Amino acid sequence: MPELPEVETIVQDLLRAGLVGKKVVDAHVKWHKTIATSSPQEFIFRITGQSINAIKRAGKFLVFSLSKNDFLLIHLRMTGKLRFVSSTTSRAPHEHVILVLNNDMELRFHDTRKFGRWYLVSDAQIVLGALGLDPLEENFNLKEFQQHLSRRARQLKPLLLDQTVLAGLGNIYVDEALWEAKLHPQRLSNALKPGEIKKLFSAIITVLKRGLLASGTTLGKGLGNFYRLDGSAGKHQQILKVFRRTGLPCPRCGTTIIRLIVGQRSTHVCPVCQSQV
Ligand SMILES: [Zn+2]
Repeated sequence: MPELPEVETIVQDLLRAGLVGKKVVDAHVKWHKTIATSSPQEFIFRITGQSINAIKRAGKFLVFSLSKNDFLLIHLRMTGKLRFVSSTTSRAPHEHVILVLNNDMELRFHDTRKFGRWYLVSDAQIVLGALGLDPLEENFNLKEFQQHLSRRARQLKPLLLDQTVLAGLGNIYVDEALWEAKLHPQRLSNALKPGEIKKLFSAIITVLKRGLLASGTTLGKGLGNFYRLDGSAGKHQQILKVFRRTGLPCPRCGTTIIRLIVGQRSTHVCPVCQSQV
């Protein structure tokens, strides 16, 4: 599932591809549930004629600012992918929403599992309002992070996955951040020492930036994986420290990495670097 670095990679790819300034001249919806906010007919009517003024990211959402004061928010969920192709490119299966743009190009949403959602709203906060701090935004600060940790006794892994606490982390980057900070995923959040909180805070930023620098994580070769706008794979999977490295040596101490289930999620740890105490 695409997480913060993967979504940010797509945003940057869209900006580089020159999507800003383009106008939607027509739209097609092949799977009605992808449009979360209205019927496909209403969506098509409302978005047609609007230009894309800006594209950014909030947590795992892509946020398009449109010319008639609307926002198009896209959550890729499990397998959603965007393609920016010429209108003459033949349509492929699983392309559930297509925006036809004024330069004979199309923005296509490919989603094999169909969990991805598009929201067309006048106020982005309707969708984004519940999101917690974004770790790559300037307002991500140690003090507020510390308050979230100390408020309740929660296991670190589910707490870091909670989008109302931090927006953008998923299974990959939580495992990587906990390894980086040498913290066990089942440690309780309110029992962390100040030094450990500081380390975790920095580790989250470090692993997200590392993922972004490598243009995201593409695991395996299946269609459902993360791919960039041009269809190429990310490179972060080549430098993962613990995630899906069960049975391999810890890059820091050489101990064999093990897999646990924490909060119903597959979790990868070095049992020596990340002790349970
Ligand atoms: Zn280790």
